[in-house]
Amino acid sequence: MTTQYSVAENVATIRLDNPPVNGLGHSTRAGIVTDLHRALASPDVEAIILTGVGGFFSAGADITEFGTPKTMAEPSLQDVIAALEESDKPVIAAIDGTCFGGGLELALGAHYRVATGASTVGLPEVKLGLVPGAGGTQRLPRVVDLATATDMITSGAPRTAQSMADGGDQRLFDRVVDGDVVDAATLFAQQILANRPLPRVRDLDATGQGGEFFATARERLRKRSRGFLAPLAALDLVETATTTPFVEGLAAERGTFAELVAGDQSAALRHAFFAERAARKIPDIPRETNTRVVNTVAVIGAGTMGGGIAMNFLNANIPVTLLEMKSEALERGVGVIRWNYQAQVDKGKLSAEVFEQRMALLSPTLEYADIAHCDLVIEAVFEDMDVKRQVFTRLDELMTPGAVLASNTSTLDLDAIAAITSRPGDVVGLHFFSPANVMPLLEVVRGKETTDEVLATAMAIGQRVGKTAVVSGVCDGFIGNRMLAKYQVAARSLLKAGSTPAQVDAAVEGFGLAMGPFRMADLAGNDISWAIRKRRYLEQRDYPRDEIGDALCELGRFGQKTGAGWYDYENGRRDALASPVVDNLLTSFHEKNGTQLHTFDPDEIVQRLIFALVDEGARILEEGIALRASDIDVVYLSGYGFPRHRGGPMFYADTVGLNTVLSALRRFAPTDWEPAPLLKMFR
Ligand code: NAD
Repeated sequence: MTTQYSVAENVATIRLDNPPVNGLGHSTRAGIVTDLHRALASPDVEAIILTGVGGFFSAGADITEFGTPKTMAEPSLQDVIAALEESDKPVIAAIDGTCFGGGLELALGAHYRVATGASTVGLPEVKLGLVPGAGGTQRLPRVVDLATATDMITSGAPRTAQSMADGGDQRLFDRVVDGDVVDAATLFAQQILANRPLPRVRDLDATGQGGEFFATARERLRKRSRGFLAPLAALDLVETATTTPFVEGLAAERGTFAELVAGDQSAALRHAFFAERAARKIPDIPRETNTRVVNTVAVIGAGTMGGGIAMNFLNANIPVTLLEMKSEALERGVGVIRWNYQAQVDKGKLSAEVFEQRMALLSPTLEYADIAHCDLVIEAVFEDMDVKRQVFTRLDELMTPGAVLASNTSTLDLDAIAAITSRPGDVVGLHFFSPANVMPLLEVVRGKETTDEVLATAMAIGQRVGKTAVVSGVCDGFIGNRMLAKYQVAARSLLKAGSTPAQVDAAVEGFGLAMGPFRMADLAGNDISWAIRKRRYLEQRDYPRDEIGDALCELGRFGQKTGAGWYDYENGRRDALASPVVDNLLTSFHEKNGTQLHTFDPDEIVQRLIFALVDEGARILEEGIALRASDIDVVYLSGYGFPRHRGGPMFYADTVGLNTVLSALRRFAPTDWEPAPLLKMFR
């Protein structure tokens, strides 16, 4: 049984009890209706409280039922809500904790709602590419103002009951209380026992006229959603609530839901959700593998990465010792951390008190001896094997046995770093992304000697500091940057054939990526990839030359930081402006090479770039660098601004069909490359 029924005096209580989140799966829906009928049939019962156990009212539909016959099995959530609304005894939803999605829709079907102030309510369906399907879009605008309803339904962002009560114009909650919510609801029940007719949300009018409101909101959403359908569909339904009788609105909602749930975008978002969960599991490492205790962390190098890495641990209340070579570098690094926190305080996102608490956990030092006791050390010094060798030699001499030794290297061989030490099993890669205090992705790099215990510890640490951790094997660039290199090659080959940076970026951004390859390169700094290229030219004689990219860097156009890169930047602004210098550079390249200029349509640009990612992804999978295709998707979703509603490059390839990918790659092949063997197997 996933509901519990009890009666105390004249009040029946139905408790949702379906761990872990009181999901509204079939057994819970059926349980509510059975219990409701029991209460209605019982002459002593005069009011009914519907509540949840374990810190949840309900987190909504059971996502594992999606696409199975169980979602459709009667009673549907709509049936349950209709049964509550039709009850001739008052039904009071007593909310304490999370009340999301179908949970909130259920509560909106009750006649009254009593909530604790800290409870969180929301309609997050849009995050799965859906709209609420059980009346949420029609009922919520009837109990809160239009701006609030629109924001909650189109963004999926939750709110606390207290903040909604403080907001004034709301009829969502009849009481917001402290303490035991069932006691408060029982008391409330005695006060409204005799009131008739019973209030129903569906009978209220949606607030506001809002014609102009919707036009403005639609424009704003269109820009932000980059081809993502659900938020705009949700907005249409909120407008419907203000213009159309309830029953018709409900039918419109059902139609939109059915369309979206069967579409590619929702499938992609559900894939993303399950992919993130799957990434936490490492098939050959048992769940019960011991993890090492990490109570203290050392970070070596207080540069761009070291400072951001340190902040992750400070935020999680873990003391950090930050080691530098020179006092100026140390002071600068600590200054940047302080400045970052201060910016959060200024924006009201962090209290001054917590800011000081975090800074108090930070111990800057120039002495190796001060880090000897740390349980985990993360090296983030210059990307140079000799420097890494000095550091790891020192760590090997100094650190307590059992300490985890991590490197944040992006391009060096982790196995070679591990081999510097006498304890290669303790060495692991923790590859953070810049800015490390903001970007959610963490590639956990498993060296050939890394022990199961150390890998499990690294994954647990990632989770503890709120990162999306994905395991990668050792190779040049690991999962993300290795694929990105291929994508950049594809972008450059478009330039060589006649495209402009703006055309390429616009096409990819139209597909939904946060930033096209050239804007991204300008943000990251063209000098960094130039330095890597120059090293490769020396190491590998046949390494393909990036003539245009090299010429750009020779002009000192390193990107935003120098005010000029693939684009021009006005002082202090991030808007990418077309650059006459780059136009000239391309023109002279074409003249010199006698290029037959070609115009590519945006779809082909997208295919060339995205399928380049897919192609390299297939190789990474085949080599066992990634454990599963969905891990590659997680890397791209959390680290590279890949649109979540496309599910990640590998999922996208499946959506369009691997045959399409393969034949497109073959079409590009004469100028580019032979498709990955794994892709060819699908022919
Ligand atoms: P950075 O040049 O900004 O910082 C390196 C810092 O290390 C400097 O402050 C330097 O003084 C210090 N340092 C050098 N040798 C040292 C030593 N022996 N002992 C103590 N401190 C020392 O470099 P960064 O961009 O922060 O990169 C650091 C590491 O992170 C590199 O391995 C890089 O590949 C990797 N990484 C960088 C990025 C990025 O976007 N910048 C992203 C992921 C990983």
